[in-house]
Amino acid sequence: MRLILLGPPGAGKGTQAERLVNEYGIKQLSTGEMLRAAVAAKTPVGLKVASILEKGELVSDEIVCAIISDRVDEPDCENGFILDGFPRTIAQAEALDKLLEEKKLTLDGVVEIRVDEGILLGRIERRASESVDGPRADDNAEALKKRLAVYSAQTAPLVDYYAKTGLLKTVDGMQDIDGVFASIKQALED
Ligand code: ADP
Repeated sequence: MRLILLGPPGAGKGTQAERLVNEYGIKQLSTGEMLRAAVAAKTPVGLKVASILEKGELVSDEIVCAIISDRVDEPDCENGFILDGFPRTIAQAEALDKLLEEKKLTLDGVVEIRVDEGILLGRIERRASESVDGPRADDNAEALKKRLAVYSAQTAPLVDYYAKTGLLKTVDGMQDIDGVFASIKQALED
């Protein structure tokens, strides 16, 4: 099974991705996590993107597309994958269509976790304060507002993009974690 998870920062994509991994035996590919790992390891890509991540801006399409293209070729993705945090722009979605076609792979669904925007700041602030590793470099008020604005401007249009393909499944992200997961499973198995 090959899925995309769509939703603003704080919607619960990471939490639900983890459950989907266990349920379907597929791999979670989070571009945010991969980029943070590159920053921590000070790889050439990491050095290039560190300040972009910190500000809550988007890394270039070229970099994230290359990362994803290489990653889906790994043997652990054979059963499928969940893309979490990618694509984030229409250009990335188009690039993904192209690279999947080249690899002769298809998507099974795009799950949009829909939440009321008003709750997001609070959720992310709570995540930052509860994180055992300390807050992420971009979990501060300024970067957060930037990430939410970037989401509305650049990523939200993907909802329409995937609605047109018939792949879009929208679930209510305002339920508790189990409720959201049950809705996702139901949407995927319909
Ligand atoms: P969020 O909680 O904001 O959804 P992520 O962990 O998905 O956070 O991403 C953190 C940061 O990594 C983003 O703000 C951005 O700088 C960078 N990033 C992640 N995925 C992408 C992408 N597909 N395109 C461009 N930048 C990305």
